Amino acid sequence: MLSAQSISHTYPSGTQALHNFSLEVNVGEFVAIVGPSGCGKSTLLRILAGLLQPTSGQVSLNGQVITAPVPQIGIMFQEAALLPWRTVAQNVALPLELGDWGLGTGELGDVQSLIPNPQSLIDLVGLTDFRDAYPKELSGGMAQRAALARALVAQPPVLLLDEPFGALDAFTRESLTQSIESICRTQGTTVILVTHNLNEAVFLADRVIACSPRPAHALEAVPVNLPRPRTWRMEAEPAFIAAVQATREALHV
Ligand code: ADP
Repeated sequence: MLSAQSISHTYPSGTQALHNFSLEVNVGEFVAIVGPSGCGKSTLLRILAGLLQPTSGQVSLNGQVITAPVPQIGIMFQEAALLPWRTVAQNVALPLELGDWGLGTGELGDVQSLIPNPQSLIDLVGLTDFRDAYPKELSGGMAQRAALARALVAQPPVLLLDEPFGALDAFTRESLTQSIESICRTQGTTVILVTHNLNEAVFLADRVIACSPRPAHALEAVPVNLPRPRTWRMEAEPAFIAAVQATREALHV
């Protein structure tokens, strides 16, 4: 479904962030990409999102080459980046109001019938009581939950996650990863997560791809054979521990 063919990227400063990175992701698959800090993971995700052009190679979604952001691909970053003057509900609805996707306001009426009610997404991410709250009233975890709802509101078949739990405390991370696993599984979303946290990668993914140090290329794919739905209690199971260990070995750490 989503395919990256031999992507390389060198920034104008001369830093080479990616070297011949190839990736094939199937419909409904959850792939985690792990690697050391600074190896080029965020660069890869920005290229997959169409926010950055590779120096060579190409990304395609269902055979169509990606050269700019498309509504079929949602993205969530480490920072929630909510608009402070809008409530949770207004932030979540923002993608539906923007003309970025070639949807003029006149056309939005037709499209809206295809899109889930933002309120139901707010319920799904657990922010029912905060729909009218402003970002300054939210904890870091709540802000990320709002950002997740915003990333999903246009029902993208593909969701890209760039270290979305990085700034959160351990308890909040567990709860948010659990929500993402459950929502993406039930909605059949194809997900690519970038992280340096091996346990998080194994908890969420069907397949963990280990990256080399910069410039990143894929070293090895580790399958995760744990049933879904997943719970953090599985962290103690031999299959979980074995997958984390196999990833560590693939990374040579
Ligand atoms: P990761 O996400 O794995 O931590 P990044 O993709 O953010 O890695 O960065 C890979 C390398 O590219 C780093 O050396 C970083 O300093 C460099 N880099 C990232 N963004 C830019 C940029 N806009 N301009 C120049 N160099 C960059």
